[in-house]
Amino acid sequence: MFNSLYTPRQLNWNRVLLNAFWIMLLVHVINQMYSSHSLLPDLIILGTVLLLECIYKWKTAFSEISITIGSYFISSLIVFFLSENIHVKPFFLLFPLLVSMIYLRTTYLILSSTAALLYTAAVFGTTMDSDDMRIEMIMTVSIIVATLLTGLAVIRRGQDLIRSLETSEKSEQDLRIQNIIMDRLSKIDPLTDLYNHKTFHEYFGWLIDHQQSNPFPMQLAILDIDNFKKVNDTYGHWVGDIALRQVAATILENIGADDFAARYGGEEFVVILTAKPLEASHAIMDRVRAGIAGLPIAEMEGKSVTVSIGMHDFQDSGSKSFVFQKADDALYEAKKTGKNKLVIH
Ligand code: GH3
Ligand code: MG
Ligand code: MG
Repeated sequence: MFNSLYTPRQLNWNRVLLNAFWIMLLVHVINQMYSSHSLLPDLIILGTVLLLECIYKWKTAFSEISITIGSYFISSLIVFFLSENIHVKPFFLLFPLLVSMIYLRTTYLILSSTAALLYTAAVFGTTMDSDDMRIEMIMTVSIIVATLLTGLAVIRRGQDLIRSLETSEKSEQDLRIQNIIMDRLSKIDPLTDLYNHKTFHEYFGWLIDHQQSNPFPMQLAILDIDNFKKVNDTYGHWVGDIALRQVAATILENIGADDFAARYGGEEFVVILTAKPLEASHAIMDRVRAGIAGLPIAEMEGKSVTVSIGMHDFQDSGSKSFVFQKADDALYEAKKTGKNKLVIH
């Protein structure tokens, strides 16, 4: 349940704890200067913290466990070197409890509390000769137990927060995916998988606008399936749909990465060809026409459909509707003069 990936945020907590270790060392050194003059514990703590720093830097995966063990070790060391007469010694053992809370680790917390309680029992067990000592022990045990219980609650709360954060991150991700799907649905024709009428107009308008500041070669082609009504009447609408999909696929196979194809509506398609001269675009669209005418459709007893194509070469002037009208006129001429042909206006 608990994510064991080392996110930058988790690594940040390792840093915070290591800083706490340095502060602890500093406080200990100052304290030692006023009491005994033995530098041995400080040197051992210094060595430990330096080792933890190295693990943090080069063996990040072990940083959390090493810091936890380090907290046990340092607090035991301080307790070990403190004078027998200092009865608050077990409180130093609260340090690993706090570290366990930062890492939201229940097991560490229970282990640290057990160790602190055992140590308290050992310290007071040998010196329980007065009422004062008994009260002191009860207070020490109470504080450790209270810290344990609070710690368990803090960890539960922390894990709760992580869970709700994960849930909200998940729903945000779902929403993003939903948006992408909706966006696609609003732009694509579901039958042919080409762009739809609305997207064609948006893109076409955008291209015409860009022509003004930065002219580039561009042609518009309108395609219309010939005698399509007859296909539907003869073989049924479902076969008509198959023919529409095959026509769309043939268009996509032949146009280039700079070109744009959409289903304009019904059995009509549009292709915008850019970044090439009219001759190149003409060749592409004639390959489309020949490809469709040569493509047998199994559901039509192996016969093919044909398309008529009207094309207009855009030359740095003219509105969207003017360009469209020119291509449409060319298509009309192609229809009138025999179909299955490409006419340029
Ligand atoms: P022309 O060669 O002059 O273009 O003749 P046509 O029969 O292709 O043209 P007409 O406009 O008379 O008929 C177009 C037909 O396209 C009528 C309509 O039923 C059919 N159609 C339009 N959209 C769809 C579609 O999504 N699926 C199917 N199966 N047929 C469609
Ligand atoms: Mg038509
Ligand atoms: Mg037609």
